[in-house]
Amino acid sequence: LTDNIAKAQGYMARFRQHGVMHHIGGASVPAISGRTFDTVSPVDLSVLAPVARGSEQDIDAAVAAAKAAFAGWSRTPGAERRRILIKVAEAIEARAEEIAFTECMDTGQALRFMSKAAIRGAANFRFFADQAPTAEDGAVTRTPTQMNTTSRRPIGPVGVITPWNTPFMLSTWKIAPALAAGCTVVHKPAEFSPMTAKLLVEIAEEAGLPKGVLNVVNGFGEDAGKRLTEHPDIKAIAFVGESRTGSMIMAQGAKTLKRVHFELGGKNPVIVFDDADLDRAVDAATFMIYSLNGERCTSSSRLLVQSSVYDQVCARVAEVARNIKVGHPLDPETVVGPLIHPEHEAKVLSYFEKARNEGATIAAGGEKRGESGCYVAPTLFTGATNDMAIAQEEIFGPVLTAIPFDDEEDALRIANDVEYGLAAYLWTNDLNRAMRMTDQLEAGMMWVNSENIRHLPTPFGGVKASGIGRDGGDWSFDFYMETVNVCFPR
Ligand code: NAD
Repeated sequence: LTDNIAKAQGYMARFRQHGVMHHIGGASVPAISGRTFDTVSPVDLSVLAPVARGSEQDIDAAVAAAKAAFAGWSRTPGAERRRILIKVAEAIEARAEEIAFTECMDTGQALRFMSKAAIRGAANFRFFADQAPTAEDGAVTRTPTQMNTTSRRPIGPVGVITPWNTPFMLSTWKIAPALAAGCTVVHKPAEFSPMTAKLLVEIAEEAGLPKGVLNVVNGFGEDAGKRLTEHPDIKAIAFVGESRTGSMIMAQGAKTLKRVHFELGGKNPVIVFDDADLDRAVDAATFMIYSLNGERCTSSSRLLVQSSVYDQVCARVAEVARNIKVGHPLDPETVVGPLIHPEHEAKVLSYFEKARNEGATIAAGGEKRGESGCYVAPTLFTGATNDMAIAQEEIFGPVLTAIPFDDEEDALRIANDVEYGLAAYLWTNDLNRAMRMTDQLEAGMMWVNSENIRHLPTPFGGVKASGIGRDGGDWSFDFYMETVNVCFPR
């Protein structure tokens, strides 16, 4: 741990010295207003670096750079875009340790997960790079009287607005397909975790991405974020964050008819029937809520267990929760690190109080850990009902709410009785039941007898208040590109 902390200090020294600047048109620049804000480490609340605080003028400068670069990048042949983006993937791999260490200190996420997240960022670039050469391809349809050619073209400069959870990986998931499609980008990273967005743009330019193709403006949602969503030269907004921010962005973008893509919150059920492999189910359910600090949109935050095995499953989950190693994010043994920020920690802690007031039982955790830093204990609430706040609201921490159910109908009713619909996990060895359940569960993504495993060509996204649109495979290109049709009478 001491070595890792020293290494992290070394990686972040430049930010401490020069601050986390914007990156506009290939140059590292301060905010035009000269204003900054501090990014704070949740490990001990120490200031990691001052960050340029973007305003309307900074966004305008970045959009101008993205607009100027669009003509060249959108006309760059797909094969050449592919070549450059593969180089970006290689450069990410070469600096994966620096990315992971920086992310751990800026977000509090454990190294064991952040080192994989950095590599996944590279995989995102590789995957979308490979689609670049055919992204514009379409179809020819012929009738005796006409021939139609349908193809796609990049929509224009786009805005990407990202949250603070696994910020590097999430940013690549949005930025890589935008660049592969031929769009230029203005990225507004989350104010709580700005560091690795700066690393990404530098890495990309060093790998050969032309200047102005990717630009970063730091700052807060209410000024920098808002202006980006309102800017007339920005053709689409890809947003990942809270559902209520999504609706604000939709309203802000209405005047300029913005195309929007939203990946929002979740309150995802993991449904365990008594015929399931309970060892695997407990393993997967605990992994999906206690990894990544539970600060994960697809976390399994509601555990629905058939009554006949409810006590048994809850006892096992509580046992796992009590034994999870909470500690410094750079300790290789740590599973749960500090939560992102004192404000978010206070939100998570408030649910411990709510659970008590609502009459749920705290079977594990339910308390703060440590003297300094945003540490909370992995927590399990039992005896909950689905109308409680702990069952309805996204807590976004290592906090699981367990609710018993009687049969399929009951499980479905509880699972669907939330405003969200991002992911659902189903544990049963009855194939017909799995088919009946997955047919009726209100979720954009479901996993049967599995934790969240990803295959990049498959669609990613939610229904209800969990999002609009899909990422992954060709779905990303549909968002970042316009489909056009040309008709030739014959
Ligand atoms: P948030 O909505 O508070 O902020 C996200 C981003 O939006 C930040 O960059 C913020 O500055 C910006 N923003 C805030 N107000 C804005 C405005 N008015 N206009 C433009 N931009 C604005 O979310 P967060 O707290 O950073 O992230 C956690 C949330 O993200 C959780 O709800 C989580 O479920 C969600 N999330 C969803 C997915 C998914 O794939 N569905 C993935 C990760 C996170």
